[in-house]
Amino acid sequence: MILKADELPALPEADRIMVRPNPPITTTIGGLEIPDIALLQAHQGRIIAAGLKAMDIMHDNGQQIGDEVLYGQFAGAWEEWDHIMKPGNNPDCIHEEWSRHSPSSIRDEKSKYRCSGYRCDACGALRLQEPLLIMNVGDIMANVDKASRQRSGDMMVVMGHTIDGKTNHVILRKGEAYASSDSTATNGVTHVTA
Ligand SMILES: [Zn+2]
Repeated sequence: MILKADELPALPEADRIMVRPNPPITTTIGGLEIPDIALLQAHQGRIIAAGLKAMDIMHDNGQQIGDEVLYGQFAGAWEEWDHIMKPGNNPDCIHEEWSRHSPSSIRDEKSKYRCSGYRCDACGALRLQEPLLIMNVGDIMANVDKASRQRSGDMMVVMGHTIDGKTNHVILRKGEAYASSDSTATNGVTHVTA
């Protein structure tokens, strides 16, 4: 089924997230071609959807939908996303005939990695088949955008304690109420300030 640019083929459940992998860079800054085996090492993409439990976990960890993340080589399951990236010049076109079109010009990125691109012969609409990854939120190994939020001071890590005395680090966003002795913090754990 061909979807629109903002429609997804499925939604991740529970503690799963959906990630749109970045196409790996195929040439170095110096212009050298990177061999295919090295391309397999690129495991970075953007979170585009999350299950309800994953949203809670992400919020507590200072992450959000749209963040660029790094994940493990074997994380997740693949799902194909067949969608119209750019509409053509006729909204009533039923797109009867598609011709092959360079995926890199459709996604505006330098790669043909696992993507197939098409152009409607009649209206010129551009269509892309690309892979999405569904993984556990715990498969995120690092978060690029979270790092920049912390650098800019929009977010900070605070050490508190649970009521039974255990150390409990939490993320606080700018303007978010600082935890006091009997408040419930962002992660639902009652804690006091250090
Ligand atoms: Zn068409």
